[in-house]
Amino acid sequence: MDAIFNPVGDAPNVWHPADAREAYLLKRRLGRQAVYVAGGTLLRTEWEAGSRSVSPHWIDLQRAAGMGEVFMQTGGLCIGSQVTLGTCRKHPTLTSLYPLVGKAIRCTAAPSVRNVATLGGNVCSGVGDVLPSLLLYDAELVWQNEQGREAPLPLREWLELRAAGALDPDRILLAIRLPERADESGIRQASGGDDALPSLLRIEVYHKVGRREAFSPSLVTTAVSAEIDAAGCFRQVKIAAGGGKAMPARLGALEAWLVGSKADLSRLPDVYERVMEEYQPAGDIFAGESYRRKTAASLIAADLWQLLQQTASEGGGRYAEPIQQRNALEGPSGRPG
Ligand SMILES: Cc1cc2nc3c(=O)[nH]c(=O)nc-3n(C[C@H](O)[C@H](O)[C@H](O)COP(=O)(O)OP(=O)(O)OC[C@H]3O[C@@H](n4cnc5c(N)ncnc54)[C@H](O)[C@@H]3O)c2cc1C
Repeated sequence: MDAIFNPVGDAPNVWHPADAREAYLLKRRLGRQAVYVAGGTLLRTEWEAGSRSVSPHWIDLQRAAGMGEVFMQTGGLCIGSQVTLGTCRKHPTLTSLYPLVGKAIRCTAAPSVRNVATLGGNVCSGVGDVLPSLLLYDAELVWQNEQGREAPLPLREWLELRAAGALDPDRILLAIRLPERADESGIRQASGGDDALPSLLRIEVYHKVGRREAFSPSLVTTAVSAEIDAAGCFRQVKIAAGGGKAMPARLGALEAWLVGSKADLSRLPDVYERVMEEYQPAGDIFAGESYRRKTAASLIAADLWQLLQQTASEGGGRYAEPIQQRNALEGPSGRPG
């Protein structure tokens, strides 16, 4: 173990391991006395609020090799866990192929915080505002354990295992992988890419509702993408919700119910009711569980309504507007219950 050790009076001991394996072994040795620190922005908030005690040993991940790049690889885009939210937000491939990730990051904290905070830290918190957008794109997580790099684990599964307390707490998140999109040619068309084909009718929207219009912790976040095909039926429907301390989740039952069904306005009351049934967020002192569910249900139904409006304005035709990205901070009026 040759990690650099900086003892400074009573201050925490800060360790700078050379790579993820060394960091993992260090954490194993120091146990609960140590904490991994990436940007430290969430940890600092928790320490200041007294919701977590300050650990005597900090294991700095930002200088560890191999976790700070964004690159294309076979099957998708790989984002190192130590890449800052600020870098992600400006990354052209990331924001063009996975626009809702860029959108969610834009709604997270202020630029000065985003320049330090990492995507890995947002994921590892289990409640970060970027998570619903990553869930929407079927993100996978790559972890380091004692043996080395593990096989990618779907984010969806990791969230469930985490909630069940069934994970090795010392594992290090190495990277977030965004799989190649099956509908990528559709995105290119919708974005006015090379093809001479007209734009595909689709919607891709992220919302964050907070206690204030901006620079506010979230109460509810939603991410929705959907298309209407030539037969006037929903396809490629993906819906995720989260916000506050609620575990973000994909609404798989609602997605399955919508895919292949006729896209018309009469479905929307059922969409609302199904979100109310399927989404189970926990309430807190800022917003009750019922407020969160109703807000998520209203946002999701409104997004699909917008898609149906496009169809109507195109006379029911298949091809219509480019990708729609409404103001991410738009939300329903109403007070937290
Ligand atoms: C003013 C302010 C506003 C904020 N606003 C928002 C907001 O709007 N939305 C939002 O989601 N968050 C917000 N945050 C919280 C925070 O900035 C983000 O969640 C950020 O992405 C966390 O990243 P970080 O690198 O700072 O994580 P850190 O604070 O370093 O770590 C967070 C947690 O993840 C663990 N961890 C980090 N990296 C790894 C890894 N690679 N492997 C294993 N464990 C790891 C740490 O041990 C810690 O438990 C805000 C914070 C501040 C200070």
